[in-house]
Amino acid sequence: MKTYLILFGPPGVGKGTQGQILSKDLGIPFISSGDALREEINKKSDIAEKMCSFMNNGELVPDIVVEEFISKMLDQYPLDKGFVFDGFPRTIHQAEFLDSYLGRINVNLDAVISLLLPKEEIVKRISGRRTCERCKAVYNIYFNSFEDDAKCKKCGGNLVQREDDKEEVVIRRVEVYEEKTEPLIAYYKNKGLLIEVDALGTVEDVAKRIKEVLSDRA
Ligand code: AMP
Repeated sequence: MKTYLILFGPPGVGKGTQGQILSKDLGIPFISSGDALREEINKKSDIAEKMCSFMNNGELVPDIVVEEFISKMLDQYPLDKGFVFDGFPRTIHQAEFLDSYLGRINVNLDAVISLLLPKEEIVKRISGRRTCERCKAVYNIYFNSFEDDAKCKKCGGNLVQREDDKEEVVIRRVEVYEEKTEPLIAYYKNKGLLIEVDALGTVEDVAKRIKEVLSDRA
């Protein structure tokens, strides 16, 4: 079955983790704008330097730059089975861009899953997040048993805190989310696509809830 999904919600709500689970379960590509932008930054191009300053300060990269990126990525992926997006769209402009891209290839979104979490929990989840330098696996000092010099359980790489996961930047990221991204809730509600899912609890609890709402809708 084809499934075209967007995972929506504030930073740190678990979109990346749940997106990867859905991607595996449904056999569809996982497309994360944040991961794509971080990969570009590692290439150290001119544009990378500009993007890096937006990201490290908790601001959004300008629509025009992100849209060009995403359309290049979408051109490369086989989209016949579906996709799950994480972190895109983040503004009304990006949502309209996505609508017109999907319109051109005759694809309709199936659902926008909005993950809900109280603000205090968001800051805790992000500031506790540690990412493997090598394979990008994500851990949390509050939820995983964790020692100071812990290494990645998957590849042995060093676990580091993303520059934009530091507390002062997290606070700005949440403000930017409220200002620029939250209006998308009404946008997708109007289209009848929004499904709200409680994101409190373990990864498995949330994955189960998402599976249930998707099968109710099928
Ligand atoms: P994420 O990994 O999704 O939390 O994204 C990390 C950072 O990348 C964000 O704080 C933004 O600076 C940038 N970014 C990711 N996706 C987008 C997007 N769709 N639009 C603008 N900036 C983005």
